[in-house]
Amino acid sequence: MIIRKEYNFENAHIVRECSTLRCSQNIHGHSYRVEIKIESNFLDNAGMVLDFGLIKISIKDIIESFDHSITLWSKDDQEYIKFAKKFNQRYVVLPVNPSVEQFCRVFFLAIDRILEQTKFINGEKNVKLHSIIVHETATGYAECFREDAYNFENMGEIDLKDVEFSSAIKNDWKDKNLWNKILNNGVFINPKSV
Ligand SMILES: [Zn+2]
Repeated sequence: MIIRKEYNFENAHIVRECSTLRCSQNIHGHSYRVEIKIESNFLDNAGMVLDFGLIKISIKDIIESFDHSITLWSKDDQEYIKFAKKFNQRYVVLPVNPSVEQFCRVFFLAIDRILEQTKFINGEKNVKLHSIIVHETATGYAECFREDAYNFENMGEIDLKDVEFSSAIKNDWKDKNLWNKILNNGVFINPKSV
């Protein structure tokens, strides 16, 4: 069984090396739509794969980090990165080019950790992230499965330690320690159910 949740965010980027020059040489933006699919072959005590309330705050904060932000590739021209950081309060730096495919992979890796590190207490079993779909336009999307997210050899290495969020973004997180928790095996607990 798969359950699905949808989020939206507005983001600006440049996709270097893209064959379309409008994309590779100009800052431009998209209205992104994200679908998060979670699966299990068990249902919990309430007859659900999981109550999404358990993880929605952390997942929402991760996706929202990219809203009205500019996403930069750490290997881009350092002068451009410096300029973008100077004139934007909200920016994210990724270790990979910010294509829609790489957005999917970054989201997968982060949300996969949240799920793995969530303490389930209502009989949930085998809850796993199935895939992440990111729509970049009304007609185009990328879908990332587990084998894509962790395919560092063919699709580029993503170490979540190398993802940088600006202070303005981190200040908006409900849990200011969100990324550190993801990186350091912190436990995610729904405060209402403990
Ligand atoms: Zn674009």
